[in-house]
Amino acid sequence: MSHWTGDTQGGLYEEILERADDSDGRSPTLINPEKLKTVLLEMLEEAGVHLRLYTFSDDVILDGNQIRGVIGYSKAGLQGFTAKVVIDCTGDGDIAAKAGVPYVKGREDDGKMQPLTLMFKVAGVDTDRAVFPGSFEETFKVPKGDLQTLGREHLPYPAGHVLLYRSTLPGIVTCNMTNCIDVDGTNPDDLTRATIACRKQIEPIVEFLREYVPGFEHCYVISTASVIGVRETRHFQCMETLTAEDILSARVFDDWVVTKAHFNFDIHNLDGSGLDKEGVQKLFAQPKGYTIPYGCLVPVGCNGLLLAGRNISATHKANSSCRVMPICVNIGQAAGTAAAIAAKTTLIPTNWMFAIYSIHWSFKVLRFDAPFCRLNFKGGISQ
Ligand SMILES: Cc1cc2nc3c(=O)[nH]c(=O)nc-3n(C[C@H](O)[C@H](O)[C@H](O)COP(=O)(O)OP(=O)(O)OC[C@H]3O[C@@H](n4cnc5c(N)ncnc54)[C@H](O)[C@@H]3O)c2cc1C
Repeated sequence: MSHWTGDTQGGLYEEILERADDSDGRSPTLINPEKLKTVLLEMLEEAGVHLRLYTFSDDVILDGNQIRGVIGYSKAGLQGFTAKVVIDCTGDGDIAAKAGVPYVKGREDDGKMQPLTLMFKVAGVDTDRAVFPGSFEETFKVPKGDLQTLGREHLPYPAGHVLLYRSTLPGIVTCNMTNCIDVDGTNPDDLTRATIACRKQIEPIVEFLREYVPGFEHCYVISTASVIGVRETRHFQCMETLTAEDILSARVFDDWVVTKAHFNFDIHNLDGSGLDKEGVQKLFAQPKGYTIPYGCLVPVGCNGLLLAGRNISATHKANSSCRVMPICVNIGQAAGTAAAIAAKTTLIPTNWMFAIYSIHWSFKVLRFDAPFCRLNFKGGISQ
């Protein structure tokens, strides 16, 4: 990704921004992915995390409705990893799905999910002359016409919008322009089809950039993402579900664990290119930021399991806002905190009401006195 989109406050996000900043004072939200990869590993090491890369969670270890761990699949074969609390941050909620947590996929009325994109970078851009449309609603007059109109006319359908982002490196621009619709990101055949379709779009997109976009006349591809980007899949049933109305009203939940979350409804067109009819970018008018409750992380029907990242409980529209990386980091901080509380006490994340209130109570204490787990819940309870 080119940049951290939206905003939030939680301490961990700010620490990552500060440590991974490579922008020479231009903007700490611009990402140098190679630097960020190293910083994140350093932070995990400092925190004493026992890290295991190259391992997929294949199944869950269940004891009735209590999760005891996961079965991982790697070069070493199948291995069990036990834990008092398991946090599912697989994006798609693979662990929660295996544990039998109820879910729906995509949009409530028809199950359609947001389009997929294979991100890529071009080099050789004259960034002094270049234009950078950063949203669907932003366009530029270029010598051959209106840039977004030209995109709809000349890019290979369902590609059709122009989204270009500066990087921290000279002459290098990140392109969020390939597009594949009608894909289920939990289906490997669909993922394969989408990857091939997006990859085939890259060459015509680069030809388009050279022909129509000032500054891109001599650009060339230098890298593509290692995996295709999936925006939306499963929405799980949890103790609470974040809705668009909660976001629009800047609702302050009693059990909030994420605060000052800012972002619009970034729904990419489910039937083509550009912004979906339900999406709101420039017209999004809610400057206060919103909160996310702990209940959105606690799935129904499986004790000891927490969700974090884009797979928390949210509606199709609410998910389009809380799926951005700053907010996902803050959700992860909340889930990690709850798991740490459970690990150090006799509590366990559960939908059993007494225990829920116990962890809720712990969060309220931690907000005001946070020596626990290097926590820093900035902002108190006012929003
Ligand atoms: C094309 C695209 C562009 C975007 N652009 C931006 C942007 O510019 N700025 C921004 O802030 N946000 C952007 N987003 C949104 C944001 O990147 C994601 O929504 C966010 O990263 C989700 O975070 P996550 O931790 O929930 O999931 P992910 O970041 O997807 O992390 C999930 C991790 O779990 C791993 N995993 C998956 N399944 C398993 C399994 N079964 N076992 C073990 N590991 C597993 C994956 O390999 C991955 O490392 C974009 C999204 C897409 C798709």
